[in-house]
Amino acid sequence: MNLKFMMQHTVQREASCMGIGLHSGAKVTMKLRPAPPNFGVRFRRMDLGHHPAVIAHAHYVVNTALATSIGSNGTTVSTIEHLMAALYVRSIDNVLIELDGPEVPIFDGSAAPLLEILTRAGLKEQTARRQCMVITRPMFLREGDAFIKATPGDHFQVRYTIDFPHPLVGKQTLRWSFNEATFGRDIARARTFGFLKDVEKLQSHGLAQGGSLANAVVFDDFGILNQDGFRYIDECVRHKILDFMGDLALAGKPMLGRFEVHKAGHALHTAFIRQLLSRPGQHSIATQNYMPASYFPFTSPQPICGPNPAFG
Ligand SMILES: [Zn+2]
Repeated sequence: MNLKFMMQHTVQREASCMGIGLHSGAKVTMKLRPAPPNFGVRFRRMDLGHHPAVIAHAHYVVNTALATSIGSNGTTVSTIEHLMAALYVRSIDNVLIELDGPEVPIFDGSAAPLLEILTRAGLKEQTARRQCMVITRPMFLREGDAFIKATPGDHFQVRYTIDFPHPLVGKQTLRWSFNEATFGRDIARARTFGFLKDVEKLQSHGLAQGGSLANAVVFDDFGILNQDGFRYIDECVRHKILDFMGDLALAGKPMLGRFEVHKAGHALHTAFIRQLLSRPGQHSIATQNYMPASYFPFTSPQPICGPNPAFG
C-alpha cells in the first residue's frame, strides 16, 4: 500500500509560467495556487471582471471540437486536458489555476513542461482522505466505429487504438498501466498532432492561430513536417492516452478499472465519463485506503502493434 496517496494533496507553493494559447495564439500567464481539501481543480479567469471560476468537472464541458473546454455562466476555459492529465498523475486533488486568457498555454504540445511546473509547485499532503471511483460493472459506449469499454480491474489500465490512413501513423495500439514514473518517461512527452490540410482549414477560420511545429506534430500527405521527427515511433497513440487521462480526470476522482478505447477523441471521452457518472450502478466510490497496492504497478507500456510497417 502506498500510504502517501491515501490522503488528498494540493500544491506546496504558488508557481507561475507563461506560454501561448493553441487556438487564440495569444500570450497567457498561468498561476497555480494551493487550495483546501475537497476544493477540486478550478480555473479562474483573471482577465475578466470579478474573476469568474469554472470547476474542472465533466458536468461543465462545453466544447470538445479541437480540445476540451469547460464553461459556466458564459465563462470558458479551453485546452485543459494536458494539465488535467499532469495533475491526475501527480495526485493533485485540489488546486486553483489562474489564467489571464481563455486557454491553458500549449507549451510544446505535450504534458512534459506541465510536469516541470508541478515539480516546481511541489506536493503537499492534506488532512482529508482521497476517494477513488471503482468500476464495478462493464460499460460500453460506441459512436460509429469508435468505442470505449470499461471493465472492473484492480488497477488503472488503458489499451488505446488509433487508425489513421497515413503512411507514418496507420494502426497503433498501446497498453499502459497507471504509474507516475512511466507517465513522465513514456506518455507525457508525446505531442499533439494534426494534418496540414486540417491545420490550414482551421487557421483560415481563425482557429489554431498559435499552432506551429513548435507545439504539434504536423503531417502532410506523405510524411512529417517536423525536422526532428517523432519523439516516439508511436507518438500519436501515446498522445491519445495523455488526452484520455486528462479527460478522465474530469470525473473528479482517480479511477480504478480497465479501459479499452478505439479511435475515440475528446467528444467520446467526455460523453463516456458523463454516462458513467449518470449511472451510479456502474461504479462505486471508495476511499483511497481500499485501493490495492497494484494501483501503482511499476510496468512499462506494452506496444501491441506499431505504425504500419508496409508504409513506415
Ligand atoms: Zn492533446
